[in-house]
Amino acid sequence: MPIYEFECEQCGTRFEELVAADGSAACPSCGAARARRLFSPVSPPGRQPRGAGVRSDESRRSEREAARQDRIATAQKRRAAGEKP
Ligand SMILES: [Zn+2]
Repeated sequence: MPIYEFECEQCGTRFEELVAADGSAACPSCGAARARRLFSPVSPPGRQPRGAGVRSDESRRSEREAARQDRIATAQKRRAAGEKP
């Protein structure tokens, strides 16, 4: 179900509600049963904006790269230790 933004016809409060496509919602501020649905659907809560997602992908990638370098270094150390008496 999409989240829509509503504007109360009675008090003008704007709020977001999860509703069916043809649903309506009651105003959380004044309790009016009818609120006008605004056209643009808004992003669900918890979904990050595009920029933040890109940044987090970037940091995950550098973490993976660091872990890989770490494994290589450990393997090299182990090999070096094995070669020495
Ligand atoms: Zn209202």
